[in-house]
Amino acid sequence: RKQLRCCTAAGCLSSGSQAVLNRLKTAIKEGNLENEVEISSVGCLRLCSQGPLVEIDPDKTLYQQVTPEQALAIIDTLNGVEPSQELPEKGDLNHPFFARQFPIVLENSGQIDPESIEEYISRGGYQQLHQVLLEMTPNKVIEEVTKSGLRGRGGGGYPTGVKWATVAKMPTQQKYVICNADEGDPGAFMDRAILESDPHRVLEGMAIAGYAVGANHGYIYIRAEYPLAIQRLEKAIQQAKKYGLMGVQIFDSPFDFKIDIRVGAGAFVCGEETALMASVEGKRGTPHPRPPYPAESGLWGHPTLINNVETYANIVPIIREGGAWYASIGTEKSKGTKVFALTGKVKNIGLIEVPMGTTIREIVEEIGGGVSDGEKVKAVQTGGPSGGCIPEHLFDTPVEYDSLQKLGTIMGSGGMIVMDESTSMVEISRFYMEFCREESCGKCVPCRTGTVQLYNLLTKLVEGQANNRDLAQLEALCQMVKETSLCGLGMTAPNPVLSTLHYFRDEYLALIQSK
Ligand code: SF4
Repeated sequence: RKQLRCCTAAGCLSSGSQAVLNRLKTAIKEGNLENEVEISSVGCLRLCSQGPLVEIDPDKTLYQQVTPEQALAIIDTLNGVEPSQELPEKGDLNHPFFARQFPIVLENSGQIDPESIEEYISRGGYQQLHQVLLEMTPNKVIEEVTKSGLRGRGGGGYPTGVKWATVAKMPTQQKYVICNADEGDPGAFMDRAILESDPHRVLEGMAIAGYAVGANHGYIYIRAEYPLAIQRLEKAIQQAKKYGLMGVQIFDSPFDFKIDIRVGAGAFVCGEETALMASVEGKRGTPHPRPPYPAESGLWGHPTLINNVETYANIVPIIREGGAWYASIGTEKSKGTKVFALTGKVKNIGLIEVPMGTTIREIVEEIGGGVSDGEKVKAVQTGGPSGGCIPEHLFDTPVEYDSLQKLGTIMGSGGMIVMDESTSMVEISRFYMEFCREESCGKCVPCRTGTVQLYNLLTKLVEGQANNRDLAQLEALCQMVKETSLCGLGMTAPNPVLSTLHYFRDEYLALIQSK
């Protein structure tokens, strides 16, 4: 029986995949092909820029930019008749875009219907929750996560096992687990895609975390701009409850666990963990100084484990295959894989998952297919408004937490924006500073007024009105905002400016000289 999979994650839906799916279903029915062809709505098939995408198995065919009319032609070919229309273009599944990827987090993405717990279970879903509850002590679970070398995928890179052990050691009864799904970096859509494609994977990871640290209540904090992910999460939670996998004594063990969703109103600062917890508590989402850290005193003063979506999505394979297996992938200090949202001026825009240690050049030139013909690649931006730019001559750097930091940027949560020679790096800096200016919560002066001043200086530069004194002031102010802001948003807001000043200073100087 042929399997037809039509992507209904946000990327493909925005290019009309729902109409394609409907047309395919009607054509299968009209052609009485139900016994020969099975059609399903699946999560992200990864090559987002070519949507709507339809994959056929076992033919290993990926149709791109499918229109509802072309859906009929696809069914004709499956029916063995001459297609009534021209077929859509086929993607090359042997292209490095697919061949160089290493899906662990995304192993179910594009393979199962995200709205079906039965499909998740049929691919081994909830077996690891069963395994930890019946065969492993909480300490053993933490040991396995520690052995894996997994580091927080939200950007900080803090060792996940150490964080779990800290919360587990706290002697209190009430503890919480939070999933940070407040993905706010411009250009980033990794967490959204994971939640839209495989929500049960994240729920299972959170339940395992709850068992390991001794928490029986989890919250998913997700931005309101992700309505499809919210809808699929809500459905997944209902299904898990129906199957006795949540809210009761799971698998007849003494462990019970429930998950609630909290929808954020889209403030970037609520991705910062102390602001996020304030928002979950129903207060205004503003950060407070640490310590105390959430692991000691988090939600309503109780020990709280906070990890992001991708971190939780790594837990099931770590338990299934073992920490040592996971640690065998990647580099010495950055284990496993990393999901990136590859965007910008690159040919193949989409969701990718690669082993840590893959070079930027492999990602941009091979997986991404390089920039448009006739253009020259200039830089890659990682880490969003907290990160920096990597110039082309440093593209042989492997992707890992420490090497990126040495270049003056960060891994971040996984946004990767490719820029070509037509991009003005000063304007890019101004774009990120404008973002931080808008998103500053206003609680502390250096960030509240510093981002405004930095934006004004960058505007002066872009408009060719700045002089050398302005440039010196820009640099001094960057240091001041970095060193004196209260939370990560302000502390890292100058990074895009400092990084472009470091690698592309000539562009700043040229704007002064053009005065
Ligand atoms: Fe708010 Fe910015 Fe201060 Fe953070 S650094 S507390 S976002 S004003």
